[in-house]
Amino acid sequence: MADVVVVGGGVIGLTTAVCLAEVGHRVQVWSALFPKRTTSAVAGAMIGGPVLAEPRESAVRWQRESLEIFDALAGHHGTGVSLARGRLVSRLGAGLPPWAAELPGFAPCTEAEHAGFPLAFWISSPIVDMPTYLDYLVDRLCRAGGDIEIRTVEALAEAAPGADVVVNCTGVAAEALTGDEQVQPVRGQHVVVENPGLTEFFYEGGADREWVSFFPHDGRVVLGGNAAPGDWNLDPDDDQTETILRRCAAVEPRLANARILGVEVGLRPGRPSIRLAEEPLDSARLIHCYGHGGVGVSLSWGCAREITTML
Ligand SMILES: Cc1cc2nc3c(=O)[nH]c(=O)nc-3n(C[C@H](O)[C@H](O)[C@H](O)COP(=O)(O)OP(=O)(O)OC[C@H]3O[C@@H](n4cnc5c(N)ncnc54)[C@H](O)[C@@H]3O)c2cc1C
Repeated sequence: MADVVVVGGGVIGLTTAVCLAEVGHRVQVWSALFPKRTTSAVAGAMIGGPVLAEPRESAVRWQRESLEIFDALAGHHGTGVSLARGRLVSRLGAGLPPWAAELPGFAPCTEAEHAGFPLAFWISSPIVDMPTYLDYLVDRLCRAGGDIEIRTVEALAEAAPGADVVVNCTGVAAEALTGDEQVQPVRGQHVVVENPGLTEFFYEGGADREWVSFFPHDGRVVLGGNAAPGDWNLDPDDDQTETILRRCAAVEPRLANARILGVEVGLRPGRPSIRLAEEPLDSARLIHCYGHGGVGVSLSWGCAREITTML
């Protein structure tokens, strides 16, 4: 069994580390930030919607494999994963896309449930309370004999001495660590409010820069959404907070007076295509796994399993 250093303690690095440790590799995660301070902690996170990521064929398989595992985790206390009913809507076109009726729990919306959107239907999907889920992954890693160290590398080669394999799961930081100019941040802001009693999620698809979304997790609801490619700013933007609250409350009036618990910003690791590839690094094997954009949680188990197979 190999000695593995996984650089990165977001959802991609932790899931990879769990899979490798559970088949017997000796795994250490090196992460610049505590998992709950990463982009992964900011995600909504929805698992079951359509994934349009590249490489297409692999992404579809990664999502299918991940969905099976999230389905199994749903309902297990302490994982942060639950199976919820929710609406997918769009302001682009009124015709149902051909894949819609195949989604679990599909049902058409009534006129009132359209909430002003021309296209709207119900599905059921796992949704993930990310701070709780990241804790669960760290705990599962430690129970499998793995370890996590808060440690920043200047170069991936720092991890090579003493490791047979280095896995690069550094998200948007992969740009600086690998010189990959195709990586760029896609900034997103969420507003987290006290849950006024919601159990169903809502997600507007097909919009580029601004949309309406909310995901209830027990006592809190995560409201979004927006995407700003090329923006590295991690400071919350008050205008965006106001827009998010206003648009979500227009769909769900119970959100109008919900107490704000926090405003969170994350940098999605944007790339035209996810990079899951191997190259040599001094005497070690280097496996890159980054560039998951807005679907990293949804694809995490599929990618981690593929890396486990590669080893
Ligand atoms: C607002 C928002 C909403 C989202 N909603 C969803 C959703 O509903 N569904 C979904 O699937 N995805 C969603 N995403 C996308 C998802 O969050 C990302 O795809 C995913 O978090 C990427 O995970 P990662 O582990 O690659 O990166 P990150 O979470 O960014 O982790 C990178 C890790 O690398 C470490 N690192 C970086 N540089 C170094 C270094 N030099 N040395 C050591 N460690 C280093 C960091 O500390 C961190 O631990 C959303 C993202 C945002 C911002």
